Order: sequence, then C-alpha cells, then structure tokens
Amino acid sequence: MLVSRPRGTSDILPVEAARWRRVEARLHRLFLLFGFGEIRTPVFEHADLFERGVGEASDIVEKEMYVFPDRAGRRLTLRPEGTAPVVRAYLEGGLKTAPQPVKLYYVSTPMFRYSRPAAGRYRQFHQAGCEVIGAGGPLADAEAVALAHACVEAAVPGGAQVLLNSIGCPECRPSYREALRDHYRDRLAELCPDCRRRWERNPLRLLDCKDPGCRHLAAAAPVPLTHLCSACRAHFEAVRWFLEAAEVPYRIEQALVRGLDYYTRTVFELGHPRLGLQASLGGGGRYDGLVEELGGPRTPAAGFALGMERLLEAAAEEEGRGETREQEGDGSGLAAERGGGGGLPAWEEAPPLLFVAAAGGEGVRRECLALALAARRRGIPAEIDLLDRSLKAQLKHAARLGATTVLILGEEELARGSVLVRDMADGRQREVAREEALTAVAGRD
Ligand code: AMP
Repeated sequence: MLVSRPRGTSDILPVEAARWRRVEARLHRLFLLFGFGEIRTPVFEHADLFERGVGEASDIVEKEMYVFPDRAGRRLTLRPEGTAPVVRAYLEGGLKTAPQPVKLYYVSTPMFRYSRPAAGRYRQFHQAGCEVIGAGGPLADAEAVALAHACVEAAVPGGAQVLLNSIGCPECRPSYREALRDHYRDRLAELCPDCRRRWERNPLRLLDCKDPGCRHLAAAAPVPLTHLCSACRAHFEAVRWFLEAAEVPYRIEQALVRGLDYYTRTVFELGHPRLGLQASLGGGGRYDGLVEELGGPRTPAAGFALGMERLLEAAAEEEGRGETREQEGDGSGLAAERGGGGGLPAWEEAPPLLFVAAAGGEGVRRECLALALAARRRGIPAEIDLLDRSLKAQLKHAARLGATTVLILGEEELARGSVLVRDMADGRQREVAREEALTAVAGRD
C-alpha cells in the first residue's frame, strides 16, 4: 500500500459505525432529556485559546497539542479538548445574555492529541460531553455527575463507577499547593523528570503521575480535601448530599486531581469494571475561573467529557460476555439501529418539557433533583432550577423554556408526600401523591 493512515488514527467501518450511531443516539437523547442544546465548534482554533484556557503547565499544552501555522502565519491548533472552545463560543455567540444557565452538549466530537499511541489512547479520538455555564451551586455539580453516570450506563448498562473529589478554589488551593511542595521538597531527586517540572509549575499533578517512584511518594502526600476552606467544604458536602438523593453511587478518591488547570472545587472521573480502573472513561468538574480567563465576566461553570472509543470498547467487552440484549440481525448493524436504543422513545418524539420547581429550602431542592431524574428515566425531558430562584421566577423561567407542566414541591407537600401539578396553559393546579405525579405528567396531551 502506498500510504497508510497516520499513527494513532482509526477508520470506522460500517458494522462498527452502526455501533457508534447506536451509542450516539442514546447520548443525544440523554442530553436532550436533561435540557441541553447541541453545540458544534470548529475542529481547529487559535492555539492561544488552549494555552490560556487549559493552562501552559498542563500535559496537553506542554506536550500534546498539534500546533501549526496556516498560510498567513496564524498559530492554529487541532482542538485537543472541548471545554475551552464551548466557553469561547458561549462568549462569542452572545449566549451570556440568554437565560442562565446555558446548557450545551456535544457528541462524537473529534479531538487531537499528540500522545504516544497505546491501548485506548489515540491521536485522533472522539468525545461526548457537556457544559453548564452560569450555575455555581452544588446542585449543578450533582446534576452533571448524575448525567455523566447516566451516559455511561446508557452506553454500557450496569456498573458505571464515579470517583469524586474536591480540589478547592483560589482561596484555599495556594496553601494546599505549598503543603504539597513541602512534602516533596527534600525528595525531588526521586521524582521523574516530568514531576520535577510539575513540582515547580503545577504541583497538583504530582498526585496522578503513573511512574512507580512518584506513586510511592504520592501515597503519603497531603490531599486536597484536608486543606479545603469552609466554603469549599460545605460545597463538597452538599454535592455528596444531592448525589445521595439522586441515587448515584460514587466513591471519594482523595488523590483525584484531573489533568487540566481550569478545575475548581468538584472534580470527578467515570470508570467501568470492563475497562479496569486505570482506564478512565471520562471526567469533569467545576471550572469557575475559565469564562473570566477567556475574557468574559465572572461566571461559574461545570461539565464533563467522555471518551467515545473507550465507551464503545467497554460496550463491546460487555457484549462479548454474552450479555447482549439486542440482536444485530444481518450483521450490517441496521437492525440494531432501528431500535433507537435503550427502549426509550426516539428523541424527536420526546414529550414536552416538564419543569420541577422548588418552593422551599435545600431539602426541597434535593427532592426536585430526584423527581427530575425520575422523570428523565421515564423519557420525560425535565428541568430544575439551578440558580436558587424564587418560585415566581422559576415559573417565569419554566415558561421561557417552553415547559407545558410544572411540578411544584414545597415544604408542606414534601411533608405530605405530595406535589402540585400546574398546567402552564391555564395556570390550574392540583395536588397529587408524589408517586403518581409522573404518571399524571406522562398522560398529558
Ligand atoms: P480528558 O479530556 O483528558 O479529561 O479526557 C476525557 C476522556 O477522553 C478520557 O477519560 C478518555 O476516555 C478520553 N481520552 C482522552 N485522551 C484520549 C486519547 N488520547 N485517546 C482516546 N481517548 C482519550
């Protein structure tokens, strides 16, 4: 053969492409059920975007970006990750004046990193992910974690694992960083060359180096959780409390820091037993400083990205174990396509939006999250308030989003085990038992 494909890239042939489309269809539907809108950004961007956004001391920017001059000498790069471009598009597309938060997602978006190809690591790979821009409270983090967990479950049913941690904020991180530096100060000679550089420029990354010598030192290193300021600690506790109501299983992983500079507070990773714990399916977290770093107003945000190749590998392993629930017919993959996936209605036919409004404190908001998740599991697109709005403001927001029904949960309804069902067309409300609420909603015109 004259010319083969570049190292670290793949061709997706028809049978395989059918498996991709099936997983993609499930992910599109999930993001839409959670109230996200799709965004597509360019494959190439100005290199500065990632140098500013992801951080010059990150592995991606330091070693893995494809940077090249175009014919006019501009420094461009093939997109290595999705968050900085989505935030750029949010600012450039005027979305900061839209009702907040703005919830954006992408599926099977190609990413490029010049890393050493290995099992599950490619130079062109694809990610599905989302960003919630404009919401700073712990409910937004919990909802993002719940969605990431649901995405993995949609692709590979059973066993999705969530690892959770908090890495603090600009208030508390400097003192943690110093504690970490102190721990390593007299042992720099034992670190790998990369980590010696990290010690100077990005010490948090010392915790997730794979080198055996560095791992040994990392095992006894101080962890971020013990250095959180009181606001970050309260935020983390609230995220956990919401996740428990959402019935999302998670494990705290105190050494989890994530590779990109922009994270603040919550960080998380997704795994699956089919892939082994060292191979992450994806990850994400909160990044409250990035919008400002890219020239916008101070705006909190959170999101995650999942590796499509790894999701598909985990799904293939699962199918290989004889647990396939769907038959692929003639092998062309077309039979599997027709099912749409997951037994949910095709998203084009999704019922109208349901808004779950909170008329009370945190306990009520927690139940609203659980109710919205239950609605989405039944294929009903649902939204909750992530900005602590008053009930009146929530109803206005629900109308703006086009919700046809609002479930209203207050302290009294919570105590009585009921919920108010409000028809947005005529403003009429009736009280129903909580367990009947979703049946009542599903029976709408
Ligand atoms: P990151 O953007 O580095 O947080 O990566 C998120 C997810 O994307 C990872 O957990 C992987 O599933 C996937 N991923 C990252 N880099 C690669 C790569 N080089 N090849 C294949 N998948 C990748």
